[in-house]
Amino acid sequence: MKRRLIWYGEDILRAISEDIKEIDDDIKILIDDMFETMREVHGIGLAAIQVGIAKRLIIVEVTSDYSDDNKGYKFAMINPKIIEKSPDMMIGEEGCLSLPEIREDVSRSQYIKISYTDIDGKENIIEAYDLIARIIQHEMDHLDGIVFVDRVEEHHRRRMKKDLRDLKRESKKRAARH
Ligand code: ZN
Repeated sequence: MKRRLIWYGEDILRAISEDIKEIDDDIKILIDDMFETMREVHGIGLAAIQVGIAKRLIIVEVTSDYSDDNKGYKFAMINPKIIEKSPDMMIGEEGCLSLPEIREDVSRSQYIKISYTDIDGKENIIEAYDLIARIIQHEMDHLDGIVFVDRVEEHHRRRMKKDLRDLKRESKKRAARH
């Protein structure tokens, strides 16, 4: 079932998500719903808080529309933790399903090592580079109430000010309709 995406301006997007203690049916359904919700809007990553659930869960799925090199990359990560990150940074443009139409450059570590639990309850450690590292860092920020515009450099933030104000206003109206 498709769920309503939370937009920038709704308070819950700033919540700190909690660890998932048990992978029950609710969590499995949530994962399915998140993939369905993300695919419909052609996203490549989504955190549970973006559908209003403050639990430490992110999904990533890259299709060939987005990147041929990384296509087929699909993960649901429960309680992900970054256990290593490179000091080498990369700048790249990001967008977010919670901030439609806003795109800006963000600096991220080029390499990360992450531990997470999968849907079967198994612990995994993986390494990620470039685009995948960027998506995971972006989604993991959501678990701590951080959105990518918080990480945009100050002189670019000024340029976004009006767009963010407009989005906040639109978002409040949209939330009130539900
Ligand atoms: Zn996002």
